[in-house]
Amino acid sequence: MLKNSPIQKINFKDRDIYIKRDDLLHKDFSGNKARKFHYFLENDFPEIDTIVSYGSNQSNAMYSLSVLAKLKKWNFKYFTNHIPSFLKEHPNGNYKYALKNNMELIVDLNFDKANYQKKENELFIDEGGAISKASFGLQILAEEINTWKNKNNIKYLKIFLPSGTGTTALFLQKFTNDEVITCPCVGDREYLMKQFKELEPNLKTYPRILETTKKYHFGKLYLENFEIWKKLKNATDIEFDLLYDPIGWNILLKNLDKFLETDILYIHQGGLIGNKTMLPRYERKFDS
Ligand SMILES: *Cc1c(COP(=O)(O)O)cnc(C)c1O
Repeated sequence: MLKNSPIQKINFKDRDIYIKRDDLLHKDFSGNKARKFHYFLENDFPEIDTIVSYGSNQSNAMYSLSVLAKLKKWNFKYFTNHIPSFLKEHPNGNYKYALKNNMELIVDLNFDKANYQKKENELFIDEGGAISKASFGLQILAEEINTWKNKNNIKYLKIFLPSGTGTTALFLQKFTNDEVITCPCVGDREYLMKQFKELEPNLKTYPRILETTKKYHFGKLYLENFEIWKKLKNATDIEFDLLYDPIGWNILLKNLDKFLETDILYIHQGGLIGNKTMLPRYERKFDS
C-alpha cells in the first residue's frame, strides 16, 4: 500500500540536491514513521488487537501509530506523563489528529516501560518507533534509492537525514552501500551511537555523524532554524518539518564543501502535522 515516493532535484545555495519525498508516501501514513511501521501494515497478526506505546503528547510517532491502528482496525493505547491544560482544551497538531483516530490517551506520571506488563493481544512499540522491525520498511527505502541511482547513472551518492532515535539512519545504512550521514537533534553524538549499538551491536559501518558546536534542546525555538526553514520553503516550495529538518539543513549546508565530488540525497522524513503547532509558536516568537 506504500508505493515508491518520488525523488526531486532542487537547487539551493547554488548546489543541486536530490530530495526523497517520503512526506508524499501516502495521504495519512507518511514519512519515516510509515517506513518504520511498514512491517506491521504488511503482515497479519491474528492475536493482536491493540497497539501500546508511550512518549510525548505531540510525538510524530504517536500520530503515525494512531493511523496504523486505524488501518489495521486495532485499538491504540498511548501513555504520556503530562497534558498541558491548554492543549487539552484546544487540541492541536499530532495530539488532535491522533485523538481523532481514536487514540486512548493515558496520562501517567510514573509510566515506566520496563514495568509494563504487556498482554497477549498487545503490540508494544518503543518510544519514537526505535524498534528492530523498522528494518523491514527501511530496507525497502534503501532499495528504492538504489534503483533510482542505477537508473540515473549516479555514481557517488551521500544520503543525508537528521536523527532523533537514529533508527532510520541506522537501518538505511545497513541496507545501502552509500554513506549515510546524519546529525543528532535529540541528545549528542554519544547518545546517537548508543542508540545505534542497542539496535545493531555488530554493524560493520554505522552512519557518519556530523555535529554542531551548538547544543539544541529538542522542541525549543531557534531563530536560525526558523530562517532556514523559510528560505527552503521560498526557494523550493517544499515544506520541511520544523523540529528536525532545520537542524539537518543547517549542518548539511555548513559541510557542503566535504561533498563536492558526490551527489547528495536528502531524505524528507515527513512530520508535517507537527508544524501545525510549531509554526504558530515560531511566528509568535519571531514574526511579531
Ligand atoms: C521521527 C522523525 C525523525 C527522527 O527519526 P529517527 O528514526 O528517530 O531518527 C526525523 N524527522 C522527522 C520528521 C520525524 O518525524
